[in-house]
Amino acid sequence: MAVRTYLNVPFAEKDSAREFGARWDADAKRWYVPEGIALHPFACWHAGAAADAMLMVAPVLLLQAWSSCWKCKGRSPVFCLACSDVRDTRDDRPDESHDGDLLLISDVTTVDERILRHLRRLAPDYRPDWSATKGSRCWMNHCRDCGAKMGDFHLHCEPDGPFLCITSSDWNRILQHLLERDGEYDFDGSYSL
Ligand SMILES: [Zn+2]
Repeated sequence: MAVRTYLNVPFAEKDSAREFGARWDADAKRWYVPEGIALHPFACWHAGAAADAMLMVAPVLLLQAWSSCWKCKGRSPVFCLACSDVRDTRDDRPDESHDGDLLLISDVTTVDERILRHLRRLAPDYRPDWSATKGSRCWMNHCRDCGAKMGDFHLHCEPDGPFLCITSSDWNRILQHLLERDGEYDFDGSYSL
């Protein structure tokens, strides 16, 4: 079952909450943030939301590769978010600069509503689900044919994982979708070169 984060939204502010991506729960008569959306923009209506404050710096891309499904053995597209830089607003240290390569995002627990819209359109099988490995829910790939979970650990950490240490020759087999050219986008998750 999808997890909802309920907000305390005064009636006068309901339109701006809706613009940020909040939805109305008619039974509970409360606004909520649908699962998988970053809470940071909702901080004024949700006490715990401000802790969620990492930013993907554009350009933000969606990388698409192929991987074998462990269950049905079919080939399925798998996806991974990437961006030019990450700003962690939770610590005061100056951001470590890196050499301009893309940062790959994994173990995503929440993501900005604007990025979510791209994911729904381009990668409907990349969506929040329960991870037994991590003991929590996070965004993960699913086999296009049988729906089996294809966790980020395999894709990012195992030697044949398509998103591990992408070398220049590997880029030929990775499709890049440009999601956002400018701006900064909330997320919570891990990132690596
Ligand atoms: Zn499968």
